[in-house]
Amino acid sequence: MKTEEKDCWKIELLGVRGSMAVTPKEYQEFGSDTLSIRIQVGETVIFLDAGSGIMYGQAGAENHVLIGHPHLDHLLGLCKWPALGDPSKKMKIYMADHEGMSCQEILHALYGPPFWPIHLEDVSKGLEYVSVKGAFHIGDVTVDVLSGNHPGGVTHYKLSDGKRSLVYAVDSELTEQAERDLLEFAKGCDLLFCDGQLTDEDAEEKRGWGHSTQLQVASLGQKCGAKHTVLVHFDPSSTDVQLDALEQKVKGKYPNSSFGRQGEIRYL
Ligand SMILES: [Zn+2]
Ligand SMILES: [Zn+2]
Repeated sequence: MKTEEKDCWKIELLGVRGSMAVTPKEYQEFGSDTLSIRIQVGETVIFLDAGSGIMYGQAGAENHVLIGHPHLDHLLGLCKWPALGDPSKKMKIYMADHEGMSCQEILHALYGPPFWPIHLEDVSKGLEYVSVKGAFHIGDVTVDVLSGNHPGGVTHYKLSDGKRSLVYAVDSELTEQAERDLLEFAKGCDLLFCDGQLTDEDAEEKRGWGHSTQLQVASLGQKCGAKHTVLVHFDPSSTDVQLDALEQKVKGKYPNSSFGRQGEIRYL
């Protein structure tokens, strides 16, 4: 990190795709991998979700992986993340309970026979699982949580340290109540990551799937006073050409918004 960036959070988009990774060349501008965002805060690294993008996420000495919900697109990178096998790295994975199962129970069931040959805690000896039940702290960073509207439930996270704030609210279908809750939660934040899976044309057919339209979330970003809104969690059927056109349409109406691209780096 350059000296002038030392006091900043470095935010790296490791994967922005929702539902499923896609590799054909028509998808390379926005990227193949499913969601994971890496935030470097001094020596500590916070990861938001652990989709396939986390495989390229460089770990710090201390790592905190915050999972929004246990659908596979948010967990599938963990099994091939080289950092997990490095004994010099401290690892904590956080997730709220789902379907009566704790974070540890969910990950132990998913990563273990018959679905996977080895449990994560056998790869990463000091691995700790944390059941998210409310706000918590990671060093100087306060992590607030909000339950979102998604099949099976989802946790939205707000990271703040008194100098800046970032909200991560993907996999969220904005019903009236969900929108009211998120507007309050994200009020005045510096950076808002939102769910950009659906186009206006998709909205009717995909009602109840737990996602929002791009215009809906960009409008929410403007309403809540977010300084910038980055849309992520793109549908695997959306090619670069389609996403570029959709981004122009959204930015035309909401200039403080953009579509996230894998590899993009921001400082806050
Ligand atoms: Zn998802
Ligand atoms: Zn989901």
